[in-house]
Amino acid sequence: MNIEELVRPNILTMQAYSSARDEYESDGSVSLLDANENPFETEFNRYPDPYQKELKAVIANLKGVKTEQLFLGNGSDEAIDLILRIFCEPGTDNILITDPTYGMYQVAAAIQNVEVRKIALTQEFDLDANAILSATDERSKVLFICNPNNPTGNLFNSDQIALLINRFQGIVVIDEAYIDFTTSSSSTKHLNEFDNLIVLQTFSKAWGLAGLRLGMAFSNAKMISLFNKVKAPYNLSSLTQKVAKKLIEANAVNTNENLQLILTERNRLASKLDGLNCVTKIFDSEANFLLIRFKDHNKAYKALTNAKLIVRDRSKALHCDNCLRITVGTKEENNNVISILENL
Ligand SMILES: *Cc1c(COP(=O)(O)O)cnc(C)c1O
Repeated sequence: MNIEELVRPNILTMQAYSSARDEYESDGSVSLLDANENPFETEFNRYPDPYQKELKAVIANLKGVKTEQLFLGNGSDEAIDLILRIFCEPGTDNILITDPTYGMYQVAAAIQNVEVRKIALTQEFDLDANAILSATDERSKVLFICNPNNPTGNLFNSDQIALLINRFQGIVVIDEAYIDFTTSSSSTKHLNEFDNLIVLQTFSKAWGLAGLRLGMAFSNAKMISLFNKVKAPYNLSSLTQKVAKKLIEANAVNTNENLQLILTERNRLASKLDGLNCVTKIFDSEANFLLIRFKDHNKAYKALTNAKLIVRDRSKALHCDNCLRITVGTKEENNNVISILENL
């Protein structure tokens, strides 16, 4: 597939912002009088590296990809927004999402005035690849698949995903925000097979760095150069680049320990809540949250809120009637959830 045929014509022909510095390897020996910066050292008086070379080298190594296959954004939400702006002509093109799924795809589409086609998951929350394919037309540019899915917590059938990547005549985005919580391997292993595949991951969940705002998109070099063309030149601050590099290099073990704790707590929380009077179903989760169906979700929500435990009401989502989504917290927090619900 030639992805350039899917790109908005104005994006293909536009000139990207260029800075005089693109032509120099900054080795510290030159005087930088090109960008109207303040010359006096404050640690942050210089603009950051627009291509984040040092941080990308560390992350590419961590993820087993080439740096040309990697885009870094101000959260993976930046990548979602860029995908909409690169491929979707406002008022004309459409995207496909599953129902239910993560809310930002629809928000990014609404900002861009792009139609959203929602295709119901099955009652078991699995993909219906044929239903998705039959909802497409020649203006369908992007298909978002969140795997594991938010808010349902499950992984999709990999054959259905493969079928969609093979058959969909547009860009397939696999959002793997929760992949670190699963035993399943990332779709990045298919990057070399499919030109239309983009995989998203984030440092916001398993890595515990939501406040830093750092997300990743993996694809082929041609796709990444489109991201680079459209992104704000200095989309990641020097602070983010520096801190993230340091934490990734130093903290891999720590992160692993916390990750194991979250998984242990997820399973403990599920088994403690299973069979409680107020709970009718706990959906299997491959993420750091549980989707739980209650006899009366309003009653459970109020009891939790009164105890200062804030959870997400997902009861209005398709197939999620009476469901709350509860993030796995610390052991104490989870114990508080358990004791409130036990007494309901
Ligand atoms: C949390 C989450 C993200 C993360 O977004 P960031 O902008 O990287 O914090 C992306 N996708 C899904 C499905 C999520 O649940």
